[in-house]
Amino acid sequence: MQTMTPQSVCVLGSTGSIGVSTLDVLARHPESYSVYALTARDRIEELAQQCRRFAPRYAVVLEESKAAQLRATLAAEELATEVLSGVDGLCQVASDPEVAIVMAAIVGAAGLRPTLAAVQAGKKVLLANKESLVMAGPVFMAALAESDASLLPIDSEHNAIFQCLPYPCDSLSEAGVEHILLTGSGGPFRTADPESLHRVTPDEACNHPNWSMGRKISVDSATMMNKGLEFIEACYLFHAVPSDIQVVVHPQSIVHSMVQYRDGSLLAQMGNPDMRTPIAHALAFPQRVESGVNALDLISAGRLDFEAPDESRFPCLRLAREAILAGGSAPTILNAANEVAVEAFLAGELPFTGIAQLIEKVMEITVVVELKDLETVEQADREARTQAHQILGELCGV
Ligand code: NAD
Ligand code: MG
Repeated sequence: MQTMTPQSVCVLGSTGSIGVSTLDVLARHPESYSVYALTARDRIEELAQQCRRFAPRYAVVLEESKAAQLRATLAAEELATEVLSGVDGLCQVASDPEVAIVMAAIVGAAGLRPTLAAVQAGKKVLLANKESLVMAGPVFMAALAESDASLLPIDSEHNAIFQCLPYPCDSLSEAGVEHILLTGSGGPFRTADPESLHRVTPDEACNHPNWSMGRKISVDSATMMNKGLEFIEACYLFHAVPSDIQVVVHPQSIVHSMVQYRDGSLLAQMGNPDMRTPIAHALAFPQRVESGVNALDLISAGRLDFEAPDESRFPCLRLAREAILAGGSAPTILNAANEVAVEAFLAGELPFTGIAQLIEKVMEITVVVELKDLETVEQADREARTQAHQILGELCGV
C-alpha cells in the first residue's frame, strides 16, 4: 500500500468563523492534511488553544505586542510553534515553500496581500476572503493567470456554481451556459417594514436566520451588500459579465446557487447551510471527503421558495451592480466604503440605512481609475476610505 504524505495547510484567519470550520474539517483527515500555519488578529487565547491542538510550525499574529504575548504563552508550555507578526509574517507563511494549500479566510481588505502572496507562490488557494477579489479583481486574476496557483471558491454560492460548471471552464458560452443564478437568503430583514430599518441594532443585523458567520459578513448579508460583493466576485471568478448573472432570493438557503444551460437544464447544488461542505469540497477537489455535515433531508425541509430581490429595500445590490459595470477601481471604492460603513454601524455611529447612503455618496465623489497593479489598488482603497470617513463625519458628526 502507498503511504501518503499529508498536505501542509496554512489557515489565514484561523480564529474566525471560516477558520474554525476549516480546522474542524482538517481534524477529520489527519492522514491527508497537516496544519502548518495559523494566523489571527485577536482572540489570542483561542489561537493558543489551536496551537496546542494542531502544533503548527508557525502562528502569526497581526500586532507584535499580541504576538509577544502568544510567544510567551507557548514558550512556557514548551510548544515548538514559532510566532511571527505583521503583514510580512502573514505573507511569509502564505507563500512558504512547505505549504501546499492556503485557506484565505481573513475578513476584508486586510486579506489582500497574504492572499495575493499565496497566489503568486503558486498555491492551491481556497478563497473565502471575497473582499480581496472584489477590490483587486483585474490585478488578482492577472496574478492567478501568471502563476501555477489554482483558485477554489469557498463562498457557498460560488462553490455551488463551480460544482455546476464543467472543470476547467474558461468561457461560459463555450460551456453552453445561458446564465448563472446567484441565490441569497435575503437576510434577517427580507420581510421587515422598510420604515423600521433605520432602528435596526448591530445584534439584530448579525442574527442571520440560516448561517452563523463573522459580524462583518453578517451585516453585509442584512444589507444584501454580501450578495452585491458576491455578484462582483462571480464576474471575476467565472469570466462573466453582469448580464450573465441573475440574483434570486431563496429564504431557506438550501439551494446554494444554480447554472442554467442552453438546452434547458438547470443544475443546482444543494445541502444544509454549513460552510464545512464547500470547505471540504475545495480542500479535496476533485475527490470528495467527509465534512461532518449531515445529508440534506428534503422531506423535512418541505419546501423551497424563490423570489426576485427588492432593490428598493436593498440599494446595496444596485450599487454593486453599478460598480462592476463602471469597472476600474469602482468595486475597490464600493468595498472600501462598505468596510468603513459597516465598522461605523457596528460601533453604533451610523444607522443601518446609513450604510447604503454612505457608500452611494463615496461612489459619487471618488474618481474611478484603472487598476494596474497592487499599488493602484491600495491607493484607490485608501482614497475611498478617506472620503468615507469624511462623509461619515458629515452624516453623523463623528
Ligand atoms: P470572522 O470575523 O469570523 O474571522 C476573521 C478572521 O480574520 C479572524 O481570524 C481574525 O482574527 C482575522 N482578521 C481580522 N482582521 C484582520 C487583519 N486586519 N489582519 C489579519 N487578520 C485579521 O470572519 P468570517 O465570517 O470567518 O469571514 C472570513 C472571510 O470569509 C470574509 O471575507 C467573509 O466574507 C468570507 N465568508 C465567510 C462566510 C461565513 O460563513 N462566515 C461565508 C462565505 C464567505
Ligand atoms: Mg456566500
